[in-house]
Amino acid sequence: MTIDRDIYTLFSMRIDLGSVKKEAKQLEETFDPELSEVEGTTAFQGEIKEISGGYELTGFLDGVYRLNCSRCLEPFTRSFHLPVRLMLKPRPEFNEPERDLAAEELDLVFYDDHIIDIGKILRDEIVVNMPLKPVCDVNCKGLCPQCGQNLNKKDCGCEPGTEAGAWNALKSIKKAIYGGE
Ligand SMILES: [Zn+2]
Ligand SMILES: [Zn+2]
Repeated sequence: MTIDRDIYTLFSMRIDLGSVKKEAKQLEETFDPELSEVEGTTAFQGEIKEISGGYELTGFLDGVYRLNCSRCLEPFTRSFHLPVRLMLKPRPEFNEPERDLAAEELDLVFYDDHIIDIGKILRDEIVVNMPLKPVCDVNCKGLCPQCGQNLNKKDCGCEPGTEAGAWNALKSIKKAIYGGE
């Protein structure tokens, strides 16, 4: 069944831009972005249409993130609903001056061939929008800086005063590097 899946991945998300006109073409796709941070398949619902100088791809991505909490390091899942609004333009032959990459054009995607892989473009959107410091819960207590206990599960009973502990740790590192006091 691996072969069938490969063919599915290869061809189902390709679009021939030559077939895209000013009248929006509706897109409804379910695909596997093949990211370790995403669980199962992701759905895209949107449209693509021809605009002056290129094409506009708009819609929403719906899926489930599978992330590790940046505080307690435990894995957790969370659904995402990401708006997509991209302009697709043919890649310029020469590097355009930097001013052309102004803020309003950051959602620009260049294509080299009139057959584009929407799956790859949408995968990049998921990556760009991934939370940098995900937390399992806004109230996550994280790990004890002294013994490493997950404080959501139980209290370790370590004395507070972590600042002093961290300061002492810094001092001993400094001592190890520079020697002396
Ligand atoms: Zn957590
Ligand atoms: Zn502790």
